[in-house]
Amino acid sequence: MKAWTLVGPKQLNLITQEPSVLTAENNVKVKMEQVLFATTEYSMYETGVGKKGSLVLGRNGVGVVSETYDAKALLNKMDRVVIEPYVACNACTNCKEQNYQDCESMKELGVNAGGLLQDFVDLPASILHKLPDSLSTERALFVPTVATCLNVVDSLQITPGMHVAVFASTKSGLIVAQLLSHYQALPVLISDNNEIIEIAKSLNVYYTINTNDCDDVAREVQVITGTRMCKNVVYFADSSFNMREVYSVASFNAKVCLVGYGAKESKVSVAQIANKHLTIFGVYNGCGKFPRAINLLVTESINVDFMVGEKIAFDNLGNRLLKVVDADEFDVHYKIVAI
Ligand SMILES: [Zn+2]
Repeated sequence: MKAWTLVGPKQLNLITQEPSVLTAENNVKVKMEQVLFATTEYSMYETGVGKKGSLVLGRNGVGVVSETYDAKALLNKMDRVVIEPYVACNACTNCKEQNYQDCESMKELGVNAGGLLQDFVDLPASILHKLPDSLSTERALFVPTVATCLNVVDSLQITPGMHVAVFASTKSGLIVAQLLSHYQALPVLISDNNEIIEIAKSLNVYYTINTNDCDDVAREVQVITGTRMCKNVVYFADSSFNMREVYSVASFNAKVCLVGYGAKESKVSVAQIANKHLTIFGVYNGCGKFPRAINLLVTESINVDFMVGEKIAFDNLGNRLLKVVDADEFDVHYKIVAI
């Protein structure tokens, strides 16, 4: 078994281990086919994993079942699966009430538990979702991204024709914008990334604001919404907008959803939150939304093809990463590691 293991900043080693044996808990062996190497993976690669020592990277991946522990696994050899990378602790109050989605110490593969950049991984069947033949492996890699964005859209209160502001510097903003259109809301995509703005236009996201050539975002949103502003605002935590600007497009009583767990910190403007009666809340994963995300991709309701980037051969990953000059190359197109 081979695994790309991060042992320090920019120190990614291909480690070879003895083949593992399935257990009652990790009851399915998956032969990995493709794993995403995205912005998060690259920033972990740059900074290392600190006191944790070492970690196998890789959060999002698709593979094929190669072996099952027993017949109860509900999956068969050769089934193609996407992996839901969240593993509940089974010990906290919420888990004891079988409320696994709200687990208080949820592990995420490739973040705080061993990830998917391996040739074979043993996993519980409960986190594997069988893929229909009509969904390509490249598109299926984005099921977790679509699932997280579904959690965002489900957490808002949208009605048809309602404007929703989406602040995003990376591609996930384009998924939220498409989902909002799918559910008949009107996304207003605000970005400082020229390429994101261009792709948004090609995806028929009608309202876009490029902050590189707009000094007054609030004024622009006022014009778009006919002074009503936005009752729902989505902010991606890996973006670098001023929070004052984010709150400035919100209407009175608006909901502001902060997405993701980016390392970037922002100064929170407390006065605006209080004065406008804003409700601020966070969404950081797509737990529980995988079947719907798969369906949206199978029916081609959501386009993810613009995110598919360069393919890197598994054994060549370490060398390829040494050649990265600018981390921005991960902002729009994810790299795919083919195993
Ligand atoms: Zn738990």
